[in-house]
Amino acid sequence: MSPASSKDAVEPMASPLSRARMSVAVDGPAGSGKSSVSRAAARELGFDYQDTGAAYRALALFAARRGVDPDNLDAVIGLLDNFDLEIGLDPSDYFVRLGGDDVTDAIRDPAVSAIVSSVARIPRVREHLTGLFREQIARGTTSGIITEGRDITTVVAPDAHVRVLLAATAEARRARRAAELKSTSAELVGEELAARDAKDLQVVDFMTAAEGVATLDSTDLNFDETVAALIALIRP
Ligand code: C5P
Repeated sequence: MSPASSKDAVEPMASPLSRARMSVAVDGPAGSGKSSVSRAAARELGFDYQDTGAAYRALALFAARRGVDPDNLDAVIGLLDNFDLEIGLDPSDYFVRLGGDDVTDAIRDPAVSAIVSSVARIPRVREHLTGLFREQIARGTTSGIITEGRDITTVVAPDAHVRVLLAATAEARRARRAAELKSTSAELVGEELAARDAKDLQVVDFMTAAEGVATLDSTDLNFDETVAALIALIRP
């Protein structure tokens, strides 16, 4: 019997993810700091960094640029065939391109934040993007990847090696986001975050850790402490 067949005989079939590089899934609400924390941790570990929210934002921007109503399911689904998205996975060279056009900053516009939940709640959109995310997770050449979003621990990569819910009180999240967007009033930011979270929560529960998912509460931690805590969960 060849070594390969004897191995097959004693071990259950490995899932695609468990055969691949180390996969880390991070979920959390808007303003939890998951993007900046995941990116910094990935940089320190030499891992790839995958920002799934950027893909939903880019699709929302694409819809706006094409004059498509984000609440029109069929029209948004109709955009997927021509949705030419590129997202950089290198945490030190992050970019988002739409049809070759750099939209890294444009997707952060409050007008995009206001409509992104509408496109994100369409099941066909979620399936399409989940497929793209899984391809990227499986394909990379670095020793690991940190993927962050809303449904990573539960849907995109439920078999990730490390799964984390990054939590923070609503007050802490509002204050952090207001500090990021200096031109917008804290009150407006709070309303925008609450409205987006409420809409997103109808699709996936990212406030409660699923079974086997570690909760990292960053309310009383500064940025560096949160990054260190995430790295400690990945490399205990
Ligand atoms: O993470 P970020 O705030 O950039 O995400 C933007 C939006 O993309 C979220 O408000 C949500 O509607 C959607 N999203 C999602 N699933 C993910 C990541 C983001 O539905 N995994």
